[in-house]
Amino acid sequence: MADGWLDTPYSLSGKKIWVAGARGMVGSAVARKLSGKNILKDESVDLRDQVAVHEWVQQNKPDVIILAAAKVGGIKANEDAPAEFLYDNLMIQNNVVHAAYEAGVEKLLFLGSSCIYPREAEQPITEEALLTGVLEPTNEAYAVAKIAGLKLCAAYRQQHGCDFISAMPCNLYGPGDKFDLEASHVIPALMMKAHAAKVSQAKTPEVWGSGKPLREFLYVDDLADALVFLLENYSGEKPVNVGSGAEISIADLAEMIARVVGFEGKLVFDSSKPDGTLRKVMDSSRINKAGWQPSVALGQGLKQTYEWYLEHQKQARAA
Ligand code: GDP
Repeated sequence: MADGWLDTPYSLSGKKIWVAGARGMVGSAVARKLSGKNILKDESVDLRDQVAVHEWVQQNKPDVIILAAAKVGGIKANEDAPAEFLYDNLMIQNNVVHAAYEAGVEKLLFLGSSCIYPREAEQPITEEALLTGVLEPTNEAYAVAKIAGLKLCAAYRQQHGCDFISAMPCNLYGPGDKFDLEASHVIPALMMKAHAAKVSQAKTPEVWGSGKPLREFLYVDDLADALVFLLENYSGEKPVNVGSGAEISIADLAEMIARVVGFEGKLVFDSSKPDGTLRKVMDSSRINKAGWQPSVALGQGLKQTYEWYLEHQKQARAA
């Protein structure tokens, strides 16, 4: 075993798997990826409630936990509700990680985010950049919670020998994403705006900030694939970056989304809104060298996401 990579893969077959947060975008993609496996359902557990989580884990005794539950949101949601982003995420991860330790869970995968790395980290960002500088203020609360989560996993590994690992994905998108003009991330927000402008031909889609920031996007089914790869092949203390390696400016992304949606008018930029960090592309060479690569290109992923959005809207109207 070198750098945490296993010589003999850990087998998920026959294992009871709990995808905590299975209703979210990441959790549902992981559940899709693991369909056919023994997946536990937890419809009613409030993961911020320590007693409820403890009891549920003791009763259901999962062998494997994928901790995909989190309070997530875009740049504005993070700025508007730092208390929730810090409190909810700390509670969820503390409860699930500690309950996993108490129940003797064999393997746990914790999910972080590329925003845990310092704002001025050298790019592409390697795992070594963790805690070497000041965080991006627009998502500091979320990042502090996620850093605590990955350190918690490392501490249980050091003190108790638990096989708890952490993955740090770049910006994610795909079916199941939150579509909300104020609270969502850039892709669903711009997709909604371009769609509304196409349908009503009245509103001009507003792109927040200067359009200059660069972001790296990964399709959620690619992430799910990477997470299963990590469960099977990784057992180390260091978090593992999971990115696509493909960077795009927000202005180019907005154009691409407009094309996918079929909106032909012009876009405007609202410079009163924050840009956030100017660049955050990760170095994912550790997982790439271990044998994992993404497979969905941004154009294709955006198309699939828009199809899901249209279908989802139809279902919501019919309900
Ligand atoms: P971030 O990576 O944490 O900053 O997450 P976001 O997905 O919220 O934002 C990414 C970038 O897209 C930022 O520079 C935003 O200012 C920009 N952006 C442009 N238009 C929008 C929008 O309508 N919603 C959001 N959330 N971001 C937007």
